[in-house]
Amino acid sequence: MSEERKCSETGCSGDCSSCSKAPQESLVKPVNEFSKIKHVIGVISGKGGVGKSLVTSMLAIEMKRKGYKVGILDADITGPSIPKVFGVNEKAEADDRGILPQITKGGIKIMSINLLLEDVEAPVVWRGSIISGAVTQFWTDVVWGELDYLFIDMPPGTGDVPLTVFQSIPVEGIVIVTSPQDLVSMIVKKAYNMAQIMDIKVLGIVENMSYVCCPDCGAEFRIFGEGKTETVADELGVKLIAQMPIDVKLAQLCDDGDIEKHNVGYMTNAADIIEE
Ligand code: ADP
Repeated sequence: MSEERKCSETGCSGDCSSCSKAPQESLVKPVNEFSKIKHVIGVISGKGGVGKSLVTSMLAIEMKRKGYKVGILDADITGPSIPKVFGVNEKAEADDRGILPQITKGGIKIMSINLLLEDVEAPVVWRGSIISGAVTQFWTDVVWGELDYLFIDMPPGTGDVPLTVFQSIPVEGIVIVTSPQDLVSMIVKKAYNMAQIMDIKVLGIVENMSYVCCPDCGAEFRIFGEGKTETVADELGVKLIAQMPIDVKLAQLCDDGDIEKHNVGYMTNAADIIEE
């Protein structure tokens, strides 16, 4: 069959630029040549302040405890908190291979904008494209070496920056973090739909601040109500892979930069599912 015949049969004009069937050009950037990363997992939330960075850190710690080589890419450029919770204060250095990540006391490699800025309290007042560029550089220019898992603490929301990050870095699966208030349904669905659009597998939903424990009797109080996240997870056909309480000791360890000393396995099940 001639090429000409093929075109007329399929209605092809021969101009690929306006054709939805034309192969899309991949925007994925190559990782630094001294990095070999097996799995990239994004941690996202539909809005800020729900504990996304905390969950990212705890998943990384669980994976490290399982014996994997683990890194955290802090893509939350305007609210970077990864170095703080791990108590890493030294600045990142560079050599002719690229930027060298810092390593936590527990052996997790981390990269964050706060490891590059002189003043960690200076606000990052940058346009979205510059922020996305910085995140992409954490992928292309950082010497991660060999990693089994790289967790990305994604920028909150579903805007320009997370979109660019998803397009530039080959994220294999995502974990959605939420808190159990009424807004949960809409916010989780936004994050879920973004992953669908980007064709990225949703590995599960983590509900944070699900309950508080009475320090005297150990009773659990579900102060935001029960079952909301579970209902949304069921509707979306996604697993609820962890429920984490408000834990005052954990908050204190984060403030002290000692998150790796926390040993209650809130994320053990979630880490098992990611591993699978
Ligand atoms: P996000 O990344 O979603 O903006 P963070 O992970 O930075 O949120 O959490 C915001 C603050 O709330 C941090 O100080 C963190 O330590 C605290 N926090 C989050 N979840 C919990 C929890 N389950 N128990 C105690 N403190 C928490």
